[in-house]
Amino acid sequence: MYDIIIVGAGPAGLTAALYARRANKTVLVIEKSTFGGQVTFSPKIENYPGFISMSGNEFADILVEQVINQGAEIEMEKVVSVEDNGQTKTIVTDSGKYEAKAVIIANGVKHRQIGLENENSLTGNGISYCAVCDGAFFKGKDVAVVGGGNSALQEAILLSDLCTGVYIIQNLDYLTGEEKLIEKINGLNNVKVITGTVVEKLYGSDELTGIGLKREKDGSLSDLDVSGLFIAIGLVPDNDAFSQVAGLNDYGYFDSGEDCRTKTPGIFTAGDCRQKKTRQITTAVSDGAVAALAACEYIDNM
Ligand SMILES: Cc1cc2nc3c(=O)[nH]c(=O)nc-3n(C[C@H](O)[C@H](O)[C@H](O)COP(=O)(O)OP(=O)(O)OC[C@H]3O[C@@H](n4cnc5c(N)ncnc54)[C@H](O)[C@@H]3O)c2cc1C
Repeated sequence: MYDIIIVGAGPAGLTAALYARRANKTVLVIEKSTFGGQVTFSPKIENYPGFISMSGNEFADILVEQVINQGAEIEMEKVVSVEDNGQTKTIVTDSGKYEAKAVIIANGVKHRQIGLENENSLTGNGISYCAVCDGAFFKGKDVAVVGGGNSALQEAILLSDLCTGVYIIQNLDYLTGEEKLIEKINGLNNVKVITGTVVEKLYGSDELTGIGLKREKDGSLSDLDVSGLFIAIGLVPDNDAFSQVAGLNDYGYFDSGEDCRTKTPGIFTAGDCRQKKTRQITTAVSDGAVAALAACEYIDNM
């Protein structure tokens, strides 16, 4: 029996672990894939107070080390459900079951897909959601990035150092990322921006060999020979497995407020997974602290 089990080792979950350990609670953090969460996809973080510039991996490494040094336990498993038994909660994973007095769900968000037929089968075979992780596989090749926001532009800038040519495919008639990033993109000779256009076909059976494009205005079709496609069209919640114990809003985010409490006493949510306007590291770590202190208070008053 743990005092607190935390689902997800992103900035929110790890900060919650830090605060809970400082309050002397026993803590288990369960992470399904990447210690550090989505921040590990970020090549450069320049908006986290106190740090002028660092990579997402550097940030994640320090945070994980800090949490382990404080005595939190970490397991690599996927949480499939959380059950409320009143005074205790059962956390079911893909390889076992755990019991805790309180649970903090900090499971972040997942990548939005384009929705094309063979997108899943080509993921890992030419399609990627992370240039930091997979960019090196496309060294000296042509690639495309789908999206026009900050994430897409950051992906394109990173890929421009490795790849021969980088095409940015954006459905709107303009890029939506920060002005500073757009200026940088415009100054790169091997990056071409194609606006008002969507990807509507993925070519290749075992590996991606190209993409089919459609211009939104006149419906005209064209093909691009690329070996890689990096999809950066936003993130969506992935909370359905926990909707029995923590309510969801109309968009699928947990409807917990600033106090991170859910409809179930003893179950809290933190970070990008809950409803909020700004999803950043600063807001995730803030939630982690609030949720942990609320969980400690809940346990102390049991
Ligand atoms: C490319 C990119 C660049 C970014 N750059 C910046 C930046 O420069 N500055 C900034 O402030 N923010 C940036 N962000 C946003 C920032 O990374 C997020 O706001 C922050 O990581 C949210 O933290 P979180 O802990 O809520 O969620 P996440 O970081 O998403 O962590 C959630 C964790 O939960 C795990 N998980 C999910 N479901 C389960 C389950 N069922 N069982 C177990 N584990 C589970 C996930 O694997 C993940 O590790 C960037 C994001 C991306 C994608």
